[in-house]
Amino acid sequence: MSYSITDLCVNCHACFDVCPNDAIYKASTQFMINKKTCTECEGDHDDAQCASICPIEGAILTPAGEAANPPGSLTGIPPMKMAEVMAEIQAR
Ligand code: SF4
Ligand code: SF4
Repeated sequence: MSYSITDLCVNCHACFDVCPNDAIYKASTQFMINKKTCTECEGDHDDAQCASICPIEGAILTPAGEAANPPGSLTGIPPMKMAEVMAEIQAR
């Protein structure tokens, strides 16, 4: 099983340097994870290093397809509040 990167990735490069298996590579538009070499960091770390360092909510998915860092988990801003603020900003 493998973690994966979504199109929310902003190419910050952070995950590339921390993967113990060099499973992360730069594709044409964003970083990706090689499903064959990702080990979920088992045997190397207690948690997935890519997900631990990624600064973008929703950019990395667990093998189950869920956001490793779901909305609000990094910013501390509840998703509903974020939606309200974004709507307010866009209405200006
Ligand atoms: S879960 Fe671990 S092994 Fe898999 S891509 Fe992320 S850092 Fe690399
Ligand atoms: S750490 Fe997150 S945002 Fe940065 S390159 Fe990796 S997946 Fe993309």
